[in-house]
Amino acid sequence: MRVLIVEDEAPLRAQLAACLRQQGYAVDEAEDGQVGLYAGQEYSIDVAVVDLGLPQLSGMQVIQHWRAAGRRFPILILTARGRWQDKVAGLEAGADDYLVKPFELEELLARLRALLRRAEGWARPVIRCEPVMLDLSAQRVTVNGDAVELTSYEYRLLEYLMLHAGQVISKTELTEHLYEEDFDRDSNVLEVLVGRIRRKLDPTQTLNPIETLRGRGYRFRLQRSPA
Ligand code: CA
Repeated sequence: MRVLIVEDEAPLRAQLAACLRQQGYAVDEAEDGQVGLYAGQEYSIDVAVVDLGLPQLSGMQVIQHWRAAGRRFPILILTARGRWQDKVAGLEAGADDYLVKPFELEELLARLRALLRRAEGWARPVIRCEPVMLDLSAQRVTVNGDAVELTSYEYRLLEYLMLHAGQVISKTELTEHLYEEDFDRDSNVLEVLVGRIRRKLDPTQTLNPIETLRGRGYRFRLQRSPA
């Protein structure tokens, strides 16, 4: 999952970026509204964290421009304490949630996870495509209740495919949403990772959870279980 942080306070931006990278997100950083606006229009962002008080363009203007341009990713705004009017205006402009500074990183992470899963139609924090279950907060995967040990790269890829269960996801989309710009796009890393995930989820090759559609990409094939 790819997060855009638009925040002009350099220490806070660096802290957020480090925390999100440590959680396995690909992170884009913008230090003012103009750079943020561009990043949100040009990159394959899954969720944006936007400070409202920004140089160049305000956070509110950035959000309005994105929404007017048809950008639909969820947006979490950061506001100063006591400015309730800002929260209302931010939500009215098209933001989805807000946090008041200062905030706990754990709360930011939980809110981002909720925004990301709701954007794909998942009401609860555990994604179920029986017999596979993926717990977004614990970053834990089970098959028929048995834990599956995944590396963080494998987990991130599976999480993306399961959040979009039933949809065909191209390799370009996976690369853009899971990795930062320096990723070698010509490598066969994705094929290798998908192969490993398949062997771990389905050692007896009876489930076939991930389908390869030649020339189009991958699809997590197991049905979404009713909530
Ligand atoms: Ca600011």
